[in-house]
Amino acid sequence: MPDDKPQPHPPARCGWLGSALAHMQNALGLNQDRCLHCLRPFSPAFAAHAHATTAPESLLCPQCRTQLVPYAGPRCPRCGIPPSDPQAGNSICGACLQNPPPWSGAAFYGLYQGALRHTLLRFKFDGHLYLAPLLGNFLLESVACLPRPDVIVAVPQHAAHLRRRGYNQAHELARALHGLSGLPLSSRLLSRPVPGQEQAHLGAKDRRSNVRHSFAASPEARGLRVWIVDDVMTTGSTMNAAASALLASGATRVDAVFAARTPLNTATEASDMQAMRGECARST
Ligand SMILES: [Zn+2]
Ligand SMILES: [Zn+2]
Repeated sequence: MPDDKPQPHPPARCGWLGSALAHMQNALGLNQDRCLHCLRPFSPAFAAHAHATTAPESLLCPQCRTQLVPYAGPRCPRCGIPPSDPQAGNSICGACLQNPPPWSGAAFYGLYQGALRHTLLRFKFDGHLYLAPLLGNFLLESVACLPRPDVIVAVPQHAAHLRRRGYNQAHELARALHGLSGLPLSSRLLSRPVPGQEQAHLGAKDRRSNVRHSFAASPEARGLRVWIVDDVMTTGSTMNAAASALLASGATRVDAVFAARTPLNTATEASDMQAMRGECARST
């Protein structure tokens, strides 16, 4: 007797056909992409979800993917820098003892080296803004140790700098974190009316005096707990000036949130720009 119950939908031919085609394309190397970090060709892993193009498995080869893990080693609890002697554990570093930073807590994902550094270089200097959701996820993972804020702000750029680059990478990160966390994002609370010199060739002391009065915070910051978002912390002088401006305007607490921490308190922007120029020259 025929079963008159609705029959389950037959297996979609496009499923196996698509899979067979994908395997054939893989075999022919047609699905290969270049790893964001080492530039070697690789076949991105199959990922069916909507964010597949920003997942690490679609951007980095398997070897480089293993480098994108959060930093779990010892660090200064104020600025995140790893101690020169790993046996020192989570002790406050000399720079923070000498000049205690104005923020309360600091959260970051990884050290500014290897695949994470390369990903941030692409994002900052090369306009690869599709990396924002990936980096936003890293930030979301790292802020679990901080108390929830009332608002997120990005380290702002001066208008002239913004015109030159076309975007503010810190704002793009803050926007991604806002989208993932639902926390309010404000671009009005903090501004950068004073351009300052290019930081690239300045040492830690000069960087501090260069940015000290660069930022202006709105009186609307009064009574708020604020996370300040940036891409990389190097000497901490920019974050220091931004946090000081917000606290001077009455913010009750400021926490520093950044994607990566340089392993040393040394300027890296000049070598970063040289690295990007060298890579562009090699790839052309
Ligand atoms: Zn690679
Ligand atoms: Zn420190």
